[in-house]
Amino acid sequence: MLEIVGHNGILERLRQAVVKRSLAPSYLFAGPKGVGKFLTARYFCMSVFCEAGSEGRPCTECFNCRRVLNGNHPDVRYLTNEEGKLSIGIDEVREGIESVQTCSYEGGYRFWVIDEAQRMTDEAQSAMLKTLEEPPPTLILILISQGEEQLLPTVISRCRRINFKNLSGAELKAFLVKKGYPEDKADVASRISGGSAGTALNFLQDSELWDRRSALFSILDNLVPGDLWQALDSVTQVEDLCSGKSSREHMLFCLDMAASLYRDAMLRRIGTADSLLINADCAQILDRLTSVYDAPGLERAVEEVCSCKFKLERNVNARLAWQSLFIKLQEFALS
Ligand SMILES: [Zn+2]
Repeated sequence: MLEIVGHNGILERLRQAVVKRSLAPSYLFAGPKGVGKFLTARYFCMSVFCEAGSEGRPCTECFNCRRVLNGNHPDVRYLTNEEGKLSIGIDEVREGIESVQTCSYEGGYRFWVIDEAQRMTDEAQSAMLKTLEEPPPTLILILISQGEEQLLPTVISRCRRINFKNLSGAELKAFLVKKGYPEDKADVASRISGGSAGTALNFLQDSELWDRRSALFSILDNLVPGDLWQALDSVTQVEDLCSGKSSREHMLFCLDMAASLYRDAMLRRIGTADSLLINADCAQILDRLTSVYDAPGLERAVEEVCSCKFKLERNVNARLAWQSLFIKLQEFALS
């Protein structure tokens, strides 16, 4: 099964292109992470190859659909980032270009799907230009990207652009409930993930993320203004909470959660409805924060958390960054 949430307009546009045989030689699927761009690329390949669908709607069950879904259709080539590499170099792109120059294996179209295309180095993108300018007649190239600043304007301008947007909270929650998650968890996950189905599912499937969020919130909840030793002890607690191989990644997650918590407290302090809060399930902690900080203090807390994240993304010493954050969070509290 292939399940895409939302994006009905995009799917219809792609189906129409298949029905009218007006496929572009290259596409740019642009938009935030985790909203279904890669799944849509698969859907598109299936609509082209499906033997049993109609009106550009793939059946998802025939031999060809199954081969696309299982990643073993000979005319669909993927360049994905399973190893988490920071960049796609010129050699990988050259190798791909060479392999798509020849005719398709089965006599029809052939696809080359490049995920996280923004990782292509400038050199790799330049190597791609000639293929974009003079594409082999049956090739359809799909560049999937969540950060176009890194793509060369000459690359972007040669692609038919499809813009993906975040899902609405209600759309995402309905999808998660349909998948069998309890309503309260689905509600929190859809709020926290900012409209990304991928992030929401990750959150629901990985209990460590839930636990890390709760533990972090209780560290923040227990901060006592003016107690320097306690600030330093809180840093140690965060280090324990985020230990292991992906320590920095865990810390960045914690900082996102912390920013959302102080943001919520600020909204609550100025009387915003609970339905607009991200962490509406943490009412007790929010109540306490609104009694410890005033609105300007909470605003500064959000800024300070974001500044700590900025430092960690730039590989500043994590312990120093957290120490400075916790000391400031204590200072911002009402005396
Ligand atoms: Zn099919």
